[in-house]
Amino acid sequence: MVSFKRANLGFSILFFLSLSVFIFSQAVPRPEEVLGFKVGDDYHLATYIQAVQYFKKLAENSDRIKLFNIGKTSMGQTMTYAVISSAENIANLEKFKQIAKRLSLVSGLPPEEAKKLSQEGKAIVYIDGGLHAGECAPAQHNIQLAYDLITASDPKTLRILHDVILVLVFANPDGMNLLAEWYHPNVGTPYEVSPMPWLYHKYAGHDNNRDSYIANLLETQHLTRIAIQEWYPVILYNHHQTAPFPARIWIPPNSEPTNPNVHPLLVRWQNMIGSAMGAAFDAEGKEGAISRIVFDTWYPGYVSQVVDSHNIISIMTETALYRYATPHFYTVRDFPKEYQDLTMSAFYPSPWKGGWWRLKDAVDYCITASKAVLDAASKYREELLYNKYIMARDVIERFKKEPPFAWIIPEKQRDPGTTALLLNRMILLGIDIYQSEETFFCDGITYPEGTYIIPMAQAFALFVKNVFEEQRYPDLRKYPDLWQGLVRSEKFEGTPFESYDMMGWTLPYQFGANVITSNSPLKVRMTRRQEIKPAAGEILGSPKAAYLIGHETNASFTATNRILKAGGRVLWAKKAFSFENKNFSEGTLLVPAQSVTHSFMEKLAKDLQLKISAASEMPKVETYTLKKPKLAIYQSWISSADEGWTRFILEQHELPFTNIYDADIRAGNLETNYDVIILPDTFSPESIIEGYAKGTMPPKYVGGTTLNGLRNLKLFADNGGTLIFMNGTSNLALEHFQVAARNVLKQAKREEFVCNGSLLRMEFDTSHPLAYGMPKEAATVFSDSCAFDIMPSYEAKKEPKSVAKYPTENLLMSGWIYGERLIQQKSSILDIPYGKGKIILLGFPVQFRAQPHGTFKILFNSIYYGPLSEK
Ligand SMILES: [Zn+2]
Repeated sequence: MVSFKRANLGFSILFFLSLSVFIFSQAVPRPEEVLGFKVGDDYHLATYIQAVQYFKKLAENSDRIKLFNIGKTSMGQTMTYAVISSAENIANLEKFKQIAKRLSLVSGLPPEEAKKLSQEGKAIVYIDGGLHAGECAPAQHNIQLAYDLITASDPKTLRILHDVILVLVFANPDGMNLLAEWYHPNVGTPYEVSPMPWLYHKYAGHDNNRDSYIANLLETQHLTRIAIQEWYPVILYNHHQTAPFPARIWIPPNSEPTNPNVHPLLVRWQNMIGSAMGAAFDAEGKEGAISRIVFDTWYPGYVSQVVDSHNIISIMTETALYRYATPHFYTVRDFPKEYQDLTMSAFYPSPWKGGWWRLKDAVDYCITASKAVLDAASKYREELLYNKYIMARDVIERFKKEPPFAWIIPEKQRDPGTTALLLNRMILLGIDIYQSEETFFCDGITYPEGTYIIPMAQAFALFVKNVFEEQRYPDLRKYPDLWQGLVRSEKFEGTPFESYDMMGWTLPYQFGANVITSNSPLKVRMTRRQEIKPAAGEILGSPKAAYLIGHETNASFTATNRILKAGGRVLWAKKAFSFENKNFSEGTLLVPAQSVTHSFMEKLAKDLQLKISAASEMPKVETYTLKKPKLAIYQSWISSADEGWTRFILEQHELPFTNIYDADIRAGNLETNYDVIILPDTFSPESIIEGYAKGTMPPKYVGGTTLNGLRNLKLFADNGGTLIFMNGTSNLALEHFQVAARNVLKQAKREEFVCNGSLLRMEFDTSHPLAYGMPKEAATVFSDSCAFDIMPSYEAKKEPKSVAKYPTENLLMSGWIYGERLIQQKSSILDIPYGKGKIILLGFPVQFRAQPHGTFKILFNSIYYGPLSEK
């Protein structure tokens, strides 16, 4: 490649690149030549397949773009992303990646060298579109943005291509296809703008943007690798399309509260880049860019926000959306009252005045926004790179001097497999984890060799702090003038302002893992681990009569499902018992030796890292016999991610199930096909009964279960079936099934009680099969959840049994709660006899977004509990 002296670099690069444009632009196809329509055309959405087809054409015809595959999506497509820059940078990607990595991780890099690398390096910018596939413009904008950058010959774009390496990603390929496949046949019919009646992802839907700090989904894992393991961008920009109406785009600065586990420089850059975007909009006469309302940075589960603790400046925007690619006309009279007089303000200086809004407008806004980010990255390239170094260096220095100096994770855990999963996800998220090679002493505790350690003197330490510590949500009422920009403090009545999403998420609590902070510097020999492997599984003793497996691990459920599938038998011990000088808890799994082969059990122990005790005679304890459950999960056409996450967890633990729909419930006779039906959490219990209104959707998707369908569900339980109501859906059972309980929060006003997305302590009755394997006390997610009062019942046999309750003291473990007195000592799980069957109310989300691994077993227990037989 040609090498340039710094002084004439600009001119030479321009000359060289203009020439290459001249040569190649003839061959680079415009999007419409491949797609058959222009990007943003009314009624047209490109699928992911078309987009990749187009990107391949670009890669064949231009040296400014290179494509990479990062793995499969949840539905099995190859996830392809593009890297776009000047031809010279594209030929040297490895070199610039390494510079970015060294500046990001710091390790031993002196400031002078960091300065030099910052001069030499390129600003790597990650931009994605299409994460929320229902928000159509961002994924379409990727196509146009790629074409614009590859074919441009203007000095500004050439400068950007010289300074910046763009990593351009389709964040949800499956969703992009699903949306186009739903929308196109409906165009021109009465259902043109009808909502899609299923999730735009195999499991997660909208929650694919709540997965980032734990990376359950394949797509999240891929995005994490791109951003945190491979490219080390200075900026990560995640596009969305739900602007606060009537604004046309929401851009940073963000709203409050601000997550405290980020370097201050990061917040400065977010504000600065957001303002640069705002200036770009008003310079182009694009009105309606708004900032500093609605979207805050408290919760780190988002694709954008998760990387802030990795010293990557995250930018999130929300462009305005009507529906899909259908245009819409607005007048000022459509606006909320407070926007109708078009008041100019510091964070909304050019109020939108109404008019047509088409997909093309939204795509153009996305393009302006992306180009403004790329322009800022180009102009401030060197500062951004050096600041990335400063942020990491400061974090490392800080935790050499102040606690927590490290997080210590004992190898011995209640559920070692689940703790290992948490640690492996932390490794994926860029965290260095070590294992001690010797016994050591810290803060009065002695730890054995083999203890896991996360030293905090590492570049991304703030991320560990962010997800491991207890969240203390700030009460923003105290100093409103400070954060709201008002001249004087206003008196804010009622409860503090909630965050846009969860207020507390502490992952070790959600995983039921024991982790300890070290408040003094550690002195111990240790080795870095690339992967955490729990102690190997084994069978201890002589297996003449039975195999005994503890109920504490989530792997014990995978084991159960494999044994039942193989035709083996599984029993649950009704009580705790001692056997051959060992103590076993209630719920211990007993597998009669004659029902399985020894080699099968050995393989099970090895594959699932299970400690299995073998018994030479059957322990003398009463048992229940498990049955392979015929399980159905109700899927509403008013799709909900809770149903998707439930499927995800069941598949992960190999528990087979069937989906049932409104028509199945309306048809009845459910007891012939199923033993257990799960009714996942939904937007409202009424929506299950009513469904979509007639005329709003194609006929197949309207009408809900109807009241007649509810009667069929009652009949199902009456005839011996088990109904499991998840979280808020419990209200459906309380209101329609005449059970002797009520939810005290049903009528609670905001002034009395607020607690959304926090972790609360729960007390479990572990002698009840629904709570087998749980500790007496555990953290649970509270999110639009229930607190039950049991009402006196005229028939003792029908009285609900409480299996878990909110304690009197220290309810809050992480996040925020107001009005806790309302729920103290109330029940959160009810086991209700119903006819010959059962109704189970799980009043809190035991499987919320597949995150609280510590409470998954309540879901599995509920499924097996229904068809248990006494023996
Ligand atoms: Zn979105």
